[in-house]
Amino acid sequence: MTLFQKIIDREIPADFVYEDDDVCAFRDIAPQAPTHILVIPKKPLVKIAEMGEEDTLLIGKLMLCATQIAKEQGIEDYRLVINNGAKAGQSVFHLHLHILAGRPFTWPPG
Ligand code: 5GP
Repeated sequence: MTLFQKIIDREIPADFVYEDDDVCAFRDIAPQAPTHILVIPKKPLVKIAEMGEEDTLLIGKLMLCATQIAKEQGIEDYRLVINNGAKAGQSVFHLHLHILAGRPFTWPPG
């Protein structure tokens, strides 16, 4: 079981900002920007590359939730990040979307 499954199951505490039947969002424990929120599907998809056609609506909802959460948090400019695989920086193998905001960001990313 992944860490994020334990957060969904309330076995590990987290600072939740949103939850519905399909998706939840909570603050990152090691924020990389003044606002750093993780939006995750409750379905335990390992990474974005493992989504199937049946997940199209769910992934769309994940993105829509991220924009709505940003709006609720009063954030206008933000970066959305999905790390796919260890070499891309993924460390928790339950799909998650990072919302990062509150400071300037550079491109290309490190
Ligand atoms: P990844 O590196 O897989 O894209 O992102 C995983 C994120 O999960 C990291 O930003 C990391 O700080 C965050 N994280 C790791 N453990 C915990 C935890 O126990 N609680 C919360 N809220 N976030 C965590």
